[in-house]
Amino acid sequence: MSAAGVQIVRTTKELRSIVAAWRRDGHGVALVPTMGALHAGHLSLAQEALKRSSRVIMSIFVNPTQFSADEDLDSYPRTFEDDVDKFASAGGHLIWAPTPSEMYPEGFATRIVPEGAANGLETDVRPHFFGGVATVCCKLFTQTLPDFAIFGEKDYQQLSVMRQMVRDLDLPLEIVGCPTVREADGLAMSSRNAYLSNDERKAAVAIYTAITDVAQQIELGADIDGASQSARQALQAAGFGQIDYVAVRDAESLEAVTSVTDRPLRVLAAAWLGKTRLIDNVAAGPGSSR
Ligand code: AMP
Repeated sequence: MSAAGVQIVRTTKELRSIVAAWRRDGHGVALVPTMGALHAGHLSLAQEALKRSSRVIMSIFVNPTQFSADEDLDSYPRTFEDDVDKFASAGGHLIWAPTPSEMYPEGFATRIVPEGAANGLETDVRPHFFGGVATVCCKLFTQTLPDFAIFGEKDYQQLSVMRQMVRDLDLPLEIVGCPTVREADGLAMSSRNAYLSNDERKAAVAIYTAITDVAQQIELGADIDGASQSARQALQAAGFGQIDYVAVRDAESLEAVTSVTDRPLRVLAAAWLGKTRLIDNVAAGPGSSR
């Protein structure tokens, strides 16, 4: 138990006994999965969880299986004490912070392989990623047995993969998506923004501007390929290096679209600024509420 009254739990056994006691007392449970280094975006998910359930668990686990060997697992920001304070101030109840060996004990050998919403975009450049995310989130769900799991639209493809997995595997919980929380200039909050130099931080907002422009151009009748190409040029002009993708997808199925119909769309982008990879997305097309 931390000074602030948030319970910090590191074993599945203890977690299960606490959640079972909550259930006996008639509490509902919501889970907010995170990798820590909390910012206002994560805390907005905790607020949504508190609206839905009388007990809120935040998992803090930097999941090794969703990083490839050349990614930032070792340098990923870890700010546990600070995270506990922030979660306590938000009114949360329990932090589930298993060690890697608690999550993946000796002999662990099962992996969920999502397709459908996981096809393309992130998977084209990070083929290991959604298998790692789906497997750990499935474990987080069966460990905590929540009524709701709250995810950010910031990672829109991940949110879609979670919805698909819960549907496909009949997992008894509801996935809830929350809007992206942004800095004053529009940059999506991200734990990885801490990697940006001052100059990069100023340039970083171009990814939001570029995808917002794509959404606006589509609404004005521009063709999808042309608008996406202009966004790539704008990112290059702003100093971005490799552009992993600028894409327009069906907002629900995440299938590629080549023309505008009456279905809601999503504009998604991932690009590198120096050594930092930024991702962002916005709604477009019918019903979009940017
Ligand atoms: P992470 O710790 O970065 O893996 O993210 C944990 C959860 O927080 C995921 O559901 C993210 O989509 C969500 N999240 C991250 N950044 C934001 C943001 N700026 N606004 C809303 N949710 C976010």
